[in-house]
Amino acid sequence: MGPAYLYAKVSFSVEKRKISDHDVAEELERFERAVQRSERDIKKIIALTREKVGRESADIFEAQMLMLRDDALYDTVVDTIRAQHVAAEYAVSVVMSKHRQVMEASGSEYLRERANDLLDVQERLIRHLHRGHMLSDIPANTIVVAENLTAADILLFSRKGILACATDFGGATSHVSIMARSLGVPAVVGMHSITDHIETGQLIIIDGAKGEVIVAPTDAEKHAYTAKRKRYEQLLIEDRALVPLPSETLDGHKVHLEANIELREELPLLSEYGADGIGLFRTEMILLMESRLLVSEEEQYELYREVVAAAAPGHTTFRMLDLGGDKMLPMGHREQNPFLGWRGIRILLDKPDILVPQLRAILRASVHGPTRLLLPMVTSRDEIRAFRQRLDAVGAELEAEGVTWQSDIPLGIMIEVPAAALQADSLAREVDFFSIGTNDLTQYVLAVDRGNDLVAGLFDELHPAVLRLVRHTVEAARRQGIPVGLCGELATNLQAVPVLVGLGVTSLSASPVFLPAMKRIVRSMSMSEGQDVAERALHSEDVRDTHAFLEAWLTEHGCGLAY
Ligand code: PEP
Ligand code: MG
Repeated sequence: MGPAYLYAKVSFSVEKRKISDHDVAEELERFERAVQRSERDIKKIIALTREKVGRESADIFEAQMLMLRDDALYDTVVDTIRAQHVAAEYAVSVVMSKHRQVMEASGSEYLRERANDLLDVQERLIRHLHRGHMLSDIPANTIVVAENLTAADILLFSRKGILACATDFGGATSHVSIMARSLGVPAVVGMHSITDHIETGQLIIIDGAKGEVIVAPTDAEKHAYTAKRKRYEQLLIEDRALVPLPSETLDGHKVHLEANIELREELPLLSEYGADGIGLFRTEMILLMESRLLVSEEEQYELYREVVAAAAPGHTTFRMLDLGGDKMLPMGHREQNPFLGWRGIRILLDKPDILVPQLRAILRASVHGPTRLLLPMVTSRDEIRAFRQRLDAVGAELEAEGVTWQSDIPLGIMIEVPAAALQADSLAREVDFFSIGTNDLTQYVLAVDRGNDLVAGLFDELHPAVLRLVRHTVEAARRQGIPVGLCGELATNLQAVPVLVGLGVTSLSASPVFLPAMKRIVRSMSMSEGQDVAERALHSEDVRDTHAFLEAWLTEHGCGLAY
């Protein structure tokens, strides 16, 4: 509960904002920072274009790079800020627009084309100037309301101390939601038009459990929600009593409860919530902070060593960088269908400059505790074999350097594409474990974009079509004698827990804060009860029935939402 802050993302309208005499130096610095950020962007675009499209197309971006520091532009912007005491975005806009007009008016075809490039450069600079400016404006203890946010935005906002957020776009399993969950920031996404109904400063309540936003609450609503928040906090405390208890069914079937982790800040939660290890360490956020693509092998090693040590004696499952989809591709590369495009293992195999340093860092860290490797977005046996070759080569390289590593490091794959689930038998022979990623599996099976608010109502991971692929995968793993975990957000859906246990999933991995509630369910059921509910859900003809009977089941077992 708190005052709203309407976060308008990129606005290209540039006002003539005057600055005072002693702000000039800071404004010049802001301009220089925006130039540097733009240079970084363009450098990445050049590398990518060269590789994917060809040298000629990359020349366009080389030209843009030169424009950024062109004397006639850069120095004139600086002079304008100094002489007229105006904000950098205004100076950039005036100076560059004037140049463009001259280029456009010239008879030369070549110059007219370059004018377009200059517009690109101008917009990129203004975008960077705005971003820095707007971020620094976000006040602590407010609820951010925005059209759309990225996972990186949530991370930066949470460091600014925001209370919660609400967005027009997005789905419950989009990465912005996952990041909000990791950081404990209450969030409601996919509200379609919430930004039209809220003004900065207005008091609002975000109910993340129900997915509701209450605007201008009455006194009665304020009291009800204050009490509800207290009950929720109380429940979290009560759940802590479960932390030291084993996670097994009444008839003694062990279900490993592991943690999904993406940030260093989450490591203390492993012991706090009794995780049996890390079932999924997403490396994207750490490696993609800001617009810095890839941190060095050494920095990665330091981080991974810390992660492995925090999870020990439990294992750490490092997922190799899963770029693409709705995870930012800061190279500025655009695709028509990013979820069906250059993503996960496809990028890793194409780009040894990403794969090799990460793999070296993980292998080096593996001597500090049990470590596993997990590959994202696998669709075929060939991808696994190609990765194994790289793994062997990197291992041999380390050995030649006299560096030790865990040589029997288990290699697993995400089962998150229908093709992988359907071929689970053959893939099981290639790897040491499976991890089912229901976030992607659901979007691919049901053809429902996980981040699109317009179809969010169709996204249901308990759909029998999804559950049948889960069952198929578990059976294949069992025949091959390899463990099969599940690390999609479905694991945090309490209704799903008895079903997944009944289907024979051997470990569930979720944001640590959910683990005690999941354990309460595991400890309240027998395996045969799980098999019964799984059977019923698999054969359900209407997924709404599934939700209804599972909700009743939870209440009967004393595991319903008690707040
Ligand atoms: C998944 O797809 O279910 C998964 C766990 O991976 P991510 O959410 O990072 O795509
Ligand atoms: Mg995935």
